[in-house]
Amino acid sequence: MQTKLLDWYHINHRKLPWRDQFDPYKIWLSEIMLQQTQVTTVIDYFNRFIKVYKTVQDLAQADEDSVLKLWEGLGYYSRARRLIPCAKMVVELFDGEFPKDYAKIIKLPGVGSYTAGAILSIAYNIKLPAVDGNVMRVYSRLFNMDNDISDAKSKKIFEEKVFDTLPEDRRHYNQALMELGATICTPKSPKCMKCPIQTHCEAFKLNLQSERPKKSKKIKKKHVNVAVCYIKHHNKVLLMKRPGEGLLAGMWAFPVVEYDGRALETIQSYLKEDFLIEVDDIIEQSFTKHVYTHLVWHMTLFEMTSDIKVTVDYPQIKWLDYDELKNYALPKGFHKLLENRK
Ligand code: SF4
Repeated sequence: MQTKLLDWYHINHRKLPWRDQFDPYKIWLSEIMLQQTQVTTVIDYFNRFIKVYKTVQDLAQADEDSVLKLWEGLGYYSRARRLIPCAKMVVELFDGEFPKDYAKIIKLPGVGSYTAGAILSIAYNIKLPAVDGNVMRVYSRLFNMDNDISDAKSKKIFEEKVFDTLPEDRRHYNQALMELGATICTPKSPKCMKCPIQTHCEAFKLNLQSERPKKSKKIKKKHVNVAVCYIKHHNKVLLMKRPGEGLLAGMWAFPVVEYDGRALETIQSYLKEDFLIEVDDIIEQSFTKHVYTHLVWHMTLFEMTSDIKVTVDYPQIKWLDYDELKNYALPKGFHKLLENRK
């Protein structure tokens, strides 16, 4: 089975800018970018990023706002915010070389068991599995495993199974599994007739492909109404840095407050308490819905004016000219609101 899969991979794999080389920096960066994100989206971001930050040393010296700007639109910004601390650790603790030891690499910010396995196996051919949702799907079908993939404990079981079946050529085998999951053994309608390992596939024999992987019901996302405050003072608009923890952590954005029915009162009391300002002429401007991992934000942009040019230490704020906004990596939902403005 392993030989067939490897032969198929060598002929059929997609040419991607981080592939066919074993540079741990590029592998790490691509794997972080690929979390929750389509390959086609990542390619351009990766190329732009690598042009600016050619090495881990370059990235270690970067400033966070520039990194976030390059990341703008890719989503899940906590990934971007962990890049610099991770690069700094590699430079300061490991002389600029990603460690070859699992116990060390797993301590890097933003590196979990999948990313650690991917870097170590692809860059250094170390015997380690790299198991994500794609690989769990392939193995659950190939070996007809009925472990529930929504249960966090199942990952360990899949990792052990992959570990036990790794051939000598780990770097290509792990990539071949990922590629098969992404292009042939897809979640819906797997292309079994084109599959290089079909004769080994237990689920195919039993016609159970659509029942593997086993997955219990999804947890419902919470829906929240949020008012996004576009506060003007003369020809400036207020931008704040969001807290270092939680949703959109550390990003520059307009102030946001959750509300339940009484938007205007909520906005006024929030701005008075957190920014020590009173606002007038609150006008509803635009609406968008943005889906996060566990949450759906129903976002309404309210435009308003303040007589006072507020200056508070926390949250950190800036008053910007309208055309300066484009220099900041605003989260996607905020961009949509600006585009939809009346
Ligand atoms: Fe997936 Fe079908 Fe191949 Fe089995 S035969 S591994 S279900 S694509």
